[in-house]
Amino acid sequence: MYEGKPPSSAGRKGWSLDSLFGRGAEEGMPLPATVPGGAPGAVAEAAPANDLFSRIGGFLRAHRLDPTPVNYDLAYHYLGGHDPALVGAVEEAIARDGLLLPDVAEKLAEAAANKVSSELLEKLIDQAHQSVTLAATLVGQSRTDANAYGSALDKGHAALQAGGEPAGRALELMVELTRTMIGKTQDAERRLAEMGNKMESLQGDLAEAQAVAETDPLTGLANRRAFQSRLARAMMQALKDGTPLSVAFCDIDHFKKINDNFGHDTGDRILKMVADALVEGVGEDAFVGRFGGEEFLVLFDGIMARRAAMRVDEVRDELSGRHLVSKTNGEPLGAVTFSAGIAQLAQGEDEGGMLKRADEALYAAKNGGRNRVIIHGED
Ligand code: GH3
Ligand code: MG
Ligand code: MG
Repeated sequence: MYEGKPPSSAGRKGWSLDSLFGRGAEEGMPLPATVPGGAPGAVAEAAPANDLFSRIGGFLRAHRLDPTPVNYDLAYHYLGGHDPALVGAVEEAIARDGLLLPDVAEKLAEAAANKVSSELLEKLIDQAHQSVTLAATLVGQSRTDANAYGSALDKGHAALQAGGEPAGRALELMVELTRTMIGKTQDAERRLAEMGNKMESLQGDLAEAQAVAETDPLTGLANRRAFQSRLARAMMQALKDGTPLSVAFCDIDHFKKINDNFGHDTGDRILKMVADALVEGVGEDAFVGRFGGEEFLVLFDGIMARRAAMRVDEVRDELSGRHLVSKTNGEPLGAVTFSAGIAQLAQGEDEGGMLKRADEALYAAKNGGRNRVIIHGED
């Protein structure tokens, strides 16, 4: 099974810290035993973005970690010191292993990414439990009351028939009982209505938490996890129905240079622009996700590779013709292009196999000079 990593992207490029972080990241920097600069939490805010960026580089270099988006995230959160538990876990791992080993780093990064959404979800689930318990109590109470009312009525009725109790007294009692029961019912109704409101807002909160957990905050696209679960479902169905399904792996060309030349913020804006161009251009029946970094995936459910490639190529062509200028100083940014690899689902193939073939086609597109779309098996 495919395990949520770019099949060969990291190996493909031969990641280089020098090229990524420039001179700021010096070889042999001391391993930071505590959050550099003092108290956790104060650092990220106090430090200028560039400084933080080079410290991230230093951290990754010191621990010989590849500058993958995942490691970058971990370094960012660790150096930012926002999460004392994460800082503690990183330091514990460093103390234990001498440096932060790649597989440990990956696990910590994943845990950090999941923490926010799982904490929120836990809180919401707890609230849901409380509401359900309250509902069960209310319903149980109403049933007990109704039973008691029923048997009291039966007793009154029997007493009336036996003539043992004066009729006026028995009636009085029944009126009293009925009044109490109506009061209780109204009370239960009011509490149920209140609870209904609470449940409604809880439902809204849960939907919101789910959306947050599945969305990439920068581009607004489905994140890798959400994309993969959608892809897995679509693949199962396509294999069952024998319908075509294709996937495109898109990777912005020389994106590192864009960051280097124009800054990370401009890089971020370009990521958003490419994401928007893909969403608009690939068609409403296609589904776009951010795989990580400057890599996007498009799911073409019910669509053959050739048609998928034509659509992606149209986006590539339109994008490469845009005249972009820097928002900050009006300088021309040059052309922004991407390369893409397409694979169509083969009988009996799993998700990992298909994504790997799309990635191989992407590799061929990069090797062939970039700014092009290649279908796997046709390069
Ligand atoms: P290629 O044409 O071979 O794909 O080259 P490239 O420079 O695009 O590829 P490389 O993998 O060397 O660099 C990708 C860069 O993307 C490195 C990383 O810093 C940057 N990056 C990853 N995620 C983000 C992000 O969220 N924002 C910004 N601004 N940059 C990012
Ligand atoms: Mg890439
Ligand atoms: Mg790239």
